[in-house]
Amino acid sequence: MHPQLTTYITLISTSGVLNLFLCLYVFWRRFNYTNVANFFIFYTASIAVYCFGSAFGLLATDLAQMKFWTMIQYIGMPISSPLGLLFIMHYLGIKITKKRCMALLAIPVISFIMVATNDFHHLHYRVFRVDPTLGSPYIYQEIGIWYAVHGIFTFGCMFAAFALLLFRWRETAKAYRFQLVALLFGQLVPMVTAFLYLIGATPAGIDPVPVVLWISSLLYLWSISTSRLFTVMPIAKDAIFNSINDGVIVLDESHRLIEFNQAAKNNFPQINKTMFGRDINEIWVELSVNPFPLAADAESSQEVLIGAGRSEQIFQVRVSALENSRGLLIIFTDITEVKRLQVKLEQQAYYDELTQVYNRRAFLQQAEQDFRLAQAKALPFTVLLIDIDHFKRVNDTYGHHIGDQVLVHVATVCQTQVQKGQVFARYGGEEFVLSMNGRTAKEAEVLANGLRKHLAFHPLVTEDEVIAVTLSIGVAEATEKAEETLYRLLNKADKALYAAKQEGRDRVCVFIGKEEGVKP
Ligand code: GH3
Ligand code: MG
Ligand code: MG
Repeated sequence: MHPQLTTYITLISTSGVLNLFLCLYVFWRRFNYTNVANFFIFYTASIAVYCFGSAFGLLATDLAQMKFWTMIQYIGMPISSPLGLLFIMHYLGIKITKKRCMALLAIPVISFIMVATNDFHHLHYRVFRVDPTLGSPYIYQEIGIWYAVHGIFTFGCMFAAFALLLFRWRETAKAYRFQLVALLFGQLVPMVTAFLYLIGATPAGIDPVPVVLWISSLLYLWSISTSRLFTVMPIAKDAIFNSINDGVIVLDESHRLIEFNQAAKNNFPQINKTMFGRDINEIWVELSVNPFPLAADAESSQEVLIGAGRSEQIFQVRVSALENSRGLLIIFTDITEVKRLQVKLEQQAYYDELTQVYNRRAFLQQAEQDFRLAQAKALPFTVLLIDIDHFKRVNDTYGHHIGDQVLVHVATVCQTQVQKGQVFARYGGEEFVLSMNGRTAKEAEVLANGLRKHLAFHPLVTEDEVIAVTLSIGVAEATEKAEETLYRLLNKADKALYAAKQEGRDRVCVFIGKEEGVKP
């Protein structure tokens, strides 16, 4: 045998064995890998068939054997390039319908039939015989019309796969580019060889593609074992990573930045790929002026304020350990709107819309707590019910609109007099309530009279009028009896207020006990 032929057979057999190994290796682990594995298994199996067909073809001693092994090659070769394309499309997350997938695989099936039946129509090989000068197993061939179709299709599939990989280069994170390079070269090697073969630039009589396929196989093998092709986040998952609405930052075990997604970039426009490999604490100062908000090695979650004024944003920041590595995953969820809504709802729930002081519900909650505390510590606790005198007249005289302004004015004036330990609220209509923790009725009476006088000095001044209003105030101090409640206390204050009204308004009355009645 010609020594060159031995080299060819050795190299082609190596390609076949490597592909068979790749096929079985991935088949064995197909459950660990993503479903990319399925296409890869068929892809490598078809190449293995092609290579073995080609290797045995080179051992052929007559035309019948050469034809037989060419037919065997055509079981694997035509289908390998569309399978390679499908594998790469799947890997990149490009979806294709089952129908289109089937259509893609139809041409290789026809090619096989064409070769198997070539003697009847000569559409694939116009001439197919033993090379007259070199002898068997070298082939002398003249191509037919279907050969051209098959050649263009095969080359087209390889080229499409190569182009798809190349287009993804820019959007692929550094860490996964290694996989991409392996796949790119894996496609490029047979593509360039097939091209050279088609233009007649390779040695006559043999197909050079299986001779070089071992290079692609080694690249895949190397990629699977070192960069964990299929198990490390494939590029399709990378695309998902970038489409997540939450900002995601990935750190290595030394808390250095190794990855971030598009949402993180939107939240922190200054973050960029040149920051890869730098300490997150250092980067964070540049991004938000503040130190990194979390103890970066703890599984934790907290709210973080970033920016100021109008550009202020609130993020829920969650840190969690990366599985199978000591790296960290930091997820930023923008909760600015949720927080704003929460504040708004709280405002609506606890504040009076007109006067913006506490409402009755907020008062009852807060005063109840204070009342219990005072009782527990045996401290005095007093409530004041404050009612605007003849308020109906204000409405009747100046209109409801001015009435509203008076309410706001009274609330504001009273609020300025409120001290620590006191809760002031709009109790309803034109009535306000004030609780005083640690104050006796006597002290409260003084403060109530102070309030009255303060308001007398500060009438409401509108564009057209100066409107003075007076207040009637009922005061009640909690007794030390066990059955005393805030509700009863408010009732007593109401009685005292009623007395103040009865006695002519613009005054303070103190409830001094059931027996003694109300003291003006
Ligand atoms: P008195 O001195 O006995 O307290 O007399 P008054 O007129 O102040 O009391 P009355 O209970 O007869 O009337 C209270 C009025 O307050 C009736 C109601 O229309 C008015 N009012 C209640 N809430 C509001 C409000 O939010 N805005 C305005 N403008 N008026 C209100
Ligand atoms: Mg009233
Ligand atoms: Mg009133």
